[in-house]
Amino acid sequence: MNRILITGAAGFLGSHLCDRFIKEGYEVIGMDNLITGDLKNIEHLFDLEQFHFYHHDVSKFIHVSGHLDYVLHFASPASPIDYLKIPIPTLKVGSLGTHNCLGLAKSKGARMLIASTSEVYGDPLVHPQNEDYWGNVNPVGPRGVYDEAKRFQEAMTMAYHTFHGLETRIVRIFNTYGPRMRLNDGRALPAFIGQALRGEDITVFGDGNQTRSFCYVDDLVEGIYRLLMSDYAQPVNIGNPDEISILDFAKEIVELTGTDQKIVFKGLPKDDPKQRKPDISRAKKLLDWTPKVSRADGLKITYDYFKSLPKDDLYKYAHPREFKK
Ligand code: UDP
Repeated sequence: MNRILITGAAGFLGSHLCDRFIKEGYEVIGMDNLITGDLKNIEHLFDLEQFHFYHHDVSKFIHVSGHLDYVLHFASPASPIDYLKIPIPTLKVGSLGTHNCLGLAKSKGARMLIASTSEVYGDPLVHPQNEDYWGNVNPVGPRGVYDEAKRFQEAMTMAYHTFHGLETRIVRIFNTYGPRMRLNDGRALPAFIGQALRGEDITVFGDGNQTRSFCYVDDLVEGIYRLLMSDYAQPVNIGNPDEISILDFAKEIVELTGTDQKIVFKGLPKDDPKQRKPDISRAKKLLDWTPKVSRADGLKITYDYFKSLPKDDLYKYAHPREFKK
């Protein structure tokens, strides 16, 4: 049986990847320190013999007994509000955590895939972003701890590939959404839906003309699966190129939820990228992959998920994104 280690297993993306590899018949070892992850996302797997959970911080030495065929490194805080609260662990998991995962993969002869991000492009000067663009990142800005850790992560992974001959894969993930996003992660989608469900105004930052391109989680997981199984070691963008302004996105959420609250405008956080849209030509060509789920369908599924949560969670996990100390 194939054995796979997934770090960040209790997180949004990690938990969906656990589901996918369980479905593919793998033995899955999920690892998480539960700083931003939540066991609720994987508790449905706990009874399975195929699934094991290790409560561990991957920034410290990782021990896994037995063989491993694949290592997927998805542990990291992944929203601006998180990495502002825990900047040092964010830097450590992207750097030390990646180094530990690479060392483990090398010792096991496993193939390693790292979760990189569109944030390596920073506030991009090229639009849409293709993999050959080197980015426009402010290393000392609020997003620097994440962006630079992820850039270092790519460099370290490529060095293990070229120097040690390790089989490596690098996925650059663009904005992704779906069930199991945290209500309080400060991201636009859970913020807007949470506000609609609580009967609060919808907070758009800046004038709302900044753009994003949102990918439904199942499409992302399919892209990652295909990349892992490919023989391609250079970075590959995975995301949905259907670009929308944040103001129009907020309007879509108002329409979907039927809220009668108004849209209000707040200050734009520092270094908030003005535009973001993946060029997915490489993924199309190499992996024969394109996203399939429309935003209308994906948002409906996601809204139903948030509606199904216990009412208390809506308040317990809600807090506005604060950028200023
Ligand atoms: N945003 C917003 N209101 C909110 C939360 C976010 O207008 O309550 C904006 C945010 O400033 C950004 C966009 O929505 O321009 C997407 O933010 P998110 O955190 O989802 O992703 P990222 O900025 O990392 O792409």
